[in-house]
Amino acid sequence: NLGTDSELAIKKDQQYLWHNITPYSEANPPMIATSASGSWVTDINGDKFLDGMSGLWCVNVGYGRKELAEAAYNQLLTLPYFPLTQSHLPAIALAEKLNEWLGDDYVIFFSNSGSEANEAAFKMARQYQQQIGQHYRHKFIARYRGYHGSTLGSLSATGQAQRKFKYEPLAGGFLHVAPPDSYRRPAGMTVEEFNLQCAQTIEDTIVWEGVETMAAVIMEPVITGGGVIVPHQIYLDRVQEICTKHGVLLIIDEVICGFGRSGRNFGHHNYNVKPDIVTMAKGLTSAYLPLSATAVRKDIYEAFKDNSDDYGHFRHVNTFGGNPAACALALRNLEILEQENLVERADILGERIYSEFSELLDHKLVGDIRRFGLVIGIELVEDKVSKKPADLSIVKGIIAECKSKGLIIGKNGDTVAGFNNVLTFAPPLSSTDEDVQFIVDTFKSVLNGSWAQ
Ligand code: PMP
Repeated sequence: NLGTDSELAIKKDQQYLWHNITPYSEANPPMIATSASGSWVTDINGDKFLDGMSGLWCVNVGYGRKELAEAAYNQLLTLPYFPLTQSHLPAIALAEKLNEWLGDDYVIFFSNSGSEANEAAFKMARQYQQQIGQHYRHKFIARYRGYHGSTLGSLSATGQAQRKFKYEPLAGGFLHVAPPDSYRRPAGMTVEEFNLQCAQTIEDTIVWEGVETMAAVIMEPVITGGGVIVPHQIYLDRVQEICTKHGVLLIIDEVICGFGRSGRNFGHHNYNVKPDIVTMAKGLTSAYLPLSATAVRKDIYEAFKDNSDDYGHFRHVNTFGGNPAACALALRNLEILEQENLVERADILGERIYSEFSELLDHKLVGDIRRFGLVIGIELVEDKVSKKPADLSIVKGIIAECKSKGLIIGKNGDTVAGFNNVLTFAPPLSSTDEDVQFIVDTFKSVLNGSWAQ
């Protein structure tokens, strides 16, 4: 019986299952989860862990929500599937609701994953430029350390070399610039000056590559998986200005930052930007079912309406995208976020963890602590003056010790660039005060215990 025999389950796991990234290791077998409730996951041995990463930054309303299961169940009985080459009511209702959440006029295209939402965005951006007569505009600018997915197009936009080099050649036309990593700005430069300089590299790239070849810029409001790199307001203001000036679309990837994670509905609501295209996934359903969306500003969508010669259509079919059960579940998920004020709560909990952690800046390994809503990043360094990243064995050792005490946290950054040194915390927005205290106490006890000065 796999449900109770953990050795057998691990053996079969090794035999049959190909995991995401993590290779099988005898010494460190994967955790086999069997159930979960709130912020806590139970493994096959009956041990409980606080999921300080909400899975992969996605279970925003927490585990075990019966309402979500019921929403999907009821929809499966009523209408389990119908393609969005035609239409159905849950997709219409969700698209309307997403407009309310976005606070602007967008048209919604559904798919099943963050990667696919970005693929759709790239194709829309290229076709839009064609529709308005800008036939050479096919290139994209993204940032180093940014992550946009694992399919070939979204991987091409991703700026982390370790994920890419085995899969070359990738899609052409994707260029990268450095992110505004203010912690590592040159000495003598203010944060504002540095952020402006980083934004300027985008304009320089547009101009050097040829304005008439540029389709869009894609970025997360805050780089999350690449190490919690939080820009200054001035950076995004300038990026928007540059895009508008040069007729380049601005695609904002809200796959992690969306749905309250940032303390606002969407990450970009913390800044002044008005994206042309917004991509979203993960928190849209709190990961209970696969669903993603590409929201396109109404006036851009209008350019696709000329179907007179059949070339106006957006040639992009997605069989499962906007599945009725996933849409019904997403609607209920958004209602829960609203009814329980979880967007506001994300900011409150994030601030609480951040201020509790601030004393850790005195710790010899802690170079910087950054926060965006309920995303906290702690950058570990070997030396605070040179800011040399801490050795991977230290980063992994701290994570393993937290896990042995029942706390799951993340490790993010960019291996090839040598910055795989940012510990990340992104618990469910529904975490209780006790959950948050457990995160704070456990992490502090680990850092101030074996890893003390
Ligand atoms: N964009 C961002 C910012 C992400 O973090 C991710 C997933 N971690 C993706 C896109 C891709 O999403 P998915 O794994 O659902 O394809």
